Amino acid sequence: RIAIDGLSRVFGDGTGLQPTSIVLEPGEFVSVLGPSGCGKSTLLRCIAGLETPQAGSLRFDDRVIFDAAAGVDVPARKRQLGMVFQDLALWPHLSAFENVAFPLRVAREQGVAEKVDRALALVGLTSFGEKMPHQLSGGQQQRVAVARALVARPDVLLMDEPFSALDAALKVQLREELSDLVRALGVTTIFVTHDQEEAMSISDRIVVLESGSVRQAASPQEVYETPADLFVANFIGTFN
Ligand code: ATP
Ligand code: MG
Repeated sequence: RIAIDGLSRVFGDGTGLQPTSIVLEPGEFVSVLGPSGCGKSTLLRCIAGLETPQAGSLRFDDRVIFDAAAGVDVPARKRQLGMVFQDLALWPHLSAFENVAFPLRVAREQGVAEKVDRALALVGLTSFGEKMPHQLSGGQQQRVAVARALVARPDVLLMDEPFSALDAALKVQLREELSDLVRALGVTTIFVTHDQEEAMSISDRIVVLESGSVRQAASPQEVYETPADLFVANFIGTFN
């Protein structure tokens, strides 16, 4: 269970993330949806520990990860998260295998080869370990990034528009694969997108953000059938 309570990160110009509270149940797949600049990445970066919130707290089960008032701020690498960000690409000088192995090596884990092989198998890239990133297609590279995010068996997976650079058909295929995979593994997932159709098709719940504030947090059906306000209605209504 992830409890985000009053977390905020407001920038000098007033944009960013206003105090936000969301609770995720174990294994839940939640999409954060909203227009460009509404604060989606800022929210994810605050959860990941890549941005320091000004207020609020963050708990993973009983573990306090961040608490502005109490001065708790667990560093990013100790938060036990898996991350796939659009701009957090593969290391070009490392093979697919070594890219996936990297988090395990940093954590000095045992049984690296076995764990990497298992992670590559999960994303359907069993025989691709020796390939370098430039020898892989865009979709294969994103699959490697997913394998790297999952290899250390995180409790939480954070994804920031991971498939936005891919063509439409591949995007649909990868998001279906991802949805099946994380549900099978039971990983709690926060998936950021500005694509309504994407959020509607893969989420247990959708959080609609606008100008740094949550407008609605509900099931895809509920958001579609009973939008909380005109903004949500307009945003959800216009499929692109
Ligand atoms: P997109 O869909 O385009 O990725 P987003 O919803 O992820 O948008 P954010 O990246 O969270 O949006 O940015 C939210 C707002 O905060 C924007 O107005 C942005 O300019 C501002 N912002 C983000 N990071 C910083 C920063 N480091 N310094 C100042 N302003 C920032
Ligand atoms: Mg963003």
